[in-house]
Amino acid sequence: MAGYAKYLINANLIGGEWLSPAADQSILVTNPATGEELGRVPAFGAAETTAAINAAVEAFPGYSSLDLAKRVKLLRDLHDALLDNQEPLAALLTAEQGKPLAESRGEIAIGAAYILWFAEEVRRTKGEVVPSPVNGRQLLVTHHPVGVVAAITPWNFPSSMLARKLGPALAAGCTTVVKPASLTPYSALAWGKLAEEVGYPAGVINIVTGSARQIGSTIMTDPRVRKVTFTGSTEVGKELIRQSADTVKKVSMELGGNAPFIVFDDADLDKAVQGAMIAKYRNSGQTCVCANRFYVQSGIHDAFVKRLTEATKALTVGAGADAGVEQGPLVDQSAFDKVKELVDDAVSNGATVETGGKGHALGGTWFEPTVLTGIKTGMSIAREEIFGPVSAIFRFDTEEEVVAAANDTDFGLAAYVYTRDLGRTFRMSEKLQYGLIGVNEGLITTVEAPFGGLKSSGLGKEGGSQGILDYFDIKYTCVGGI
Ligand code: ADP
Repeated sequence: MAGYAKYLINANLIGGEWLSPAADQSILVTNPATGEELGRVPAFGAAETTAAINAAVEAFPGYSSLDLAKRVKLLRDLHDALLDNQEPLAALLTAEQGKPLAESRGEIAIGAAYILWFAEEVRRTKGEVVPSPVNGRQLLVTHHPVGVVAAITPWNFPSSMLARKLGPALAAGCTTVVKPASLTPYSALAWGKLAEEVGYPAGVINIVTGSARQIGSTIMTDPRVRKVTFTGSTEVGKELIRQSADTVKKVSMELGGNAPFIVFDDADLDKAVQGAMIAKYRNSGQTCVCANRFYVQSGIHDAFVKRLTEATKALTVGAGADAGVEQGPLVDQSAFDKVKELVDDAVSNGATVETGGKGHALGGTWFEPTVLTGIKTGMSIAREEIFGPVSAIFRFDTEEEVVAAANDTDFGLAAYVYTRDLGRTFRMSEKLQYGLIGVNEGLITTVEAPFGGLKSSGLGKEGGSQGILDYFDIKYTCVGGI
């Protein structure tokens, strides 16, 4: 088990206690590469979620008034603990999620980097002293932790998505209730263990696994939870935004994407193919910033398709834990079925399969890395998030045409552009309605920059100097009579 057995924790962390359920109250967690059982985590519901919220409420006065230097030290120690345990944590992540080990190592590293970033950034969350319009007054603007924060995380990045939420929450002085995805709960439970080891006080981090609906509605209806941060589907995100109305909670939403990847005739072909491979096939296409629609200009179209097809064929497919593997299995059968349905629909509507197009010979939930050309706007693959290793390629002629096509979606998370024309670079930055834009780069997420979508892709930012602001309430105090 590559040293991760100690992190297969079949219990939840609530108020500093690890609680196990009755035998019949558990969720089976399997390894998507082998189908083998990894363990069973609690299937907790409303009662345990309320207990977790109670613990976070109780811990808040003490934790929020800890010296800032002590909160920073705890974060730095958590960062170190993540990196000291990078190998077993990466192996655990691959076991429950399926991604190649190299990607899991990267995810643990960027998760640790988010924690360090917020440890640094919180020291610069300055207030203001605003000039008063009249003499005898001082106008103070100050930051205060919002209170209890609930974090709901997805299965595609079970470790680093937690880092983006726990990092700013803990830095700001908030206490937390975490609900990880049921497919990949162990990475989050491992964070609970490490946080305990580095000395986080009981109740500051609580982790509850179980029914999303029950845990979600308990979080949403409790007025003591002041902020909810969610990464997942647009459908669930919209429901949570609706549910947040009654208790007027702050919400941050990282939702779905439908990223265009635009290659102009003047692009550097090598770089465009290299960028396409990473923007498309990382995590077997299961990321919300994955290239979903390739738009390739007529003059470079055939050369790009040829090169991308060759590179796609050369991908090493296998179990994420095996050396050299670049494409792991999809996370579960329904993920596989969805990808297959989108590919079948595209092909039946006239798309051409350049390579792949079906389940892989390895069986299970592996899908062949696929390139499709002749994609048309009406196909469902052009409108829905593919979340699989499928490059769907449109051909286009003009800049105006491709900008209109790229923006013709409810989503607005990531967009990629390959061009060597400086003027066009700035026009794309201006015109593409996306929260993240990569020009001549296929992997742009970094702790220093704000990550977040426009339109139906979300609300709020994670990372960057912006990523902590939503975890604060801002107060204005007018001191008169001076
Ligand atoms: P994904 O496509 O990533 O599975 P989901 O939105 O279904 O996206 O799930 C993301 C996270 O949201 C998971 O932790 C899941 O358990 C949780 N979730 C799903 N439905 C709800 C809900 N109704 N309320 C709260 N959380 C939910």
